[in-house]
Amino acid sequence: MKNVTVIGAGTMGNGIAHTFAQFGYSVNLVDVSEDALKKAVATITKNLDRMVEKGKLTAEDKTKTLSNIKTVTDLKSGVANAELVVEAATENIDLKLKIFRDMDAATSPNCILATNTSSISITKIAAVTSKPDKVIGMHFMNPVPVMKLVEIIRGYNTSDEVTKTIMEASKSLDKVPVEVNDYPGFVANRILMPMINEAIITLNEGVAGVEEIDTVMKLGMAHPMGPLQLADFIGLDVCLAIMNVLYSGLGNDKYAPCPLLVNMVTAGKLGVKSGEGFYSWTHGTKDLVVSKNFKK
Ligand code: NAD
Repeated sequence: MKNVTVIGAGTMGNGIAHTFAQFGYSVNLVDVSEDALKKAVATITKNLDRMVEKGKLTAEDKTKTLSNIKTVTDLKSGVANAELVVEAATENIDLKLKIFRDMDAATSPNCILATNTSSISITKIAAVTSKPDKVIGMHFMNPVPVMKLVEIIRGYNTSDEVTKTIMEASKSLDKVPVEVNDYPGFVANRILMPMINEAIITLNEGVAGVEEIDTVMKLGMAHPMGPLQLADFIGLDVCLAIMNVLYSGLGNDKYAPCPLLVNMVTAGKLGVKSGEGFYSWTHGTKDLVVSKNFKK
């Protein structure tokens, strides 16, 4: 496998394109937005510069990596030669179903269609294509060039051969692939999101404050950051969307999103991306300042 197309050049797409290109794949990076493509190349360049500064990459590797990436706005021409497509467009089911229908028509029969979705059913996405055996989840973690895990999600019809190929492709990127089955939230978000939701319930019940909850989890459980800070980084809207997928998909009240989470999303307090969540981020992301709404 040499030719890979990445659909969507946002937070995840630029990291996925960067990683494949760094490991010698020829990458087409596709986005409907010219601006998103420009920003993605700027981000990839900045991240490669940082790797060169830290001695993790040579200047020559940086040049090679960048020369392996082409940017494209037209999906059809972007996927024409692909042997693997990794879709990392906005988390919206109707949008993803349309992209998979279009990709199905525009790719060669043997091309593997992967999605980086955090929560949408792989089986459902595969069902709109003519080759559900070749559709698979390839769930990279953020930031992609740094994080080792790739959660490989088998849809109901994904073949053994395709799973093996994608496990091998992940290893070729110096990642550790873990195979899981297609159930709501897969494994990563099935376990992570209820923990974050429970931290929000704990805060809402007044058991402890923002800093206290995060400190208990950081120092007590050796987590690199507390669940409330992590929720701010992920985006509270994303956390709520995933809790809703777990709640509706698994039909168990234990997955009901905390009303405080719902309120914060309704009020536009989404975490880092909106400047405020459990912490205030207007000053940047270095120092932790608890949001005025949660100051004691
Ligand atoms: P993002 O909003 O940063 O980027 C999405 C990009 O998709 C945008 O640049 C947008 O212009 C583009 N796009 C929209 N419609 C398109 C189309 N029809 N064709 C091509 N491009 C299109 O989103 P993100 O955070 O990078 O998330 C992308 C996917 O990765 C989602 O499925 C999300 O669930 C998943 N994911 C996100 C994270 C995370 O931490 N952000 C982690 C793991 C998985």
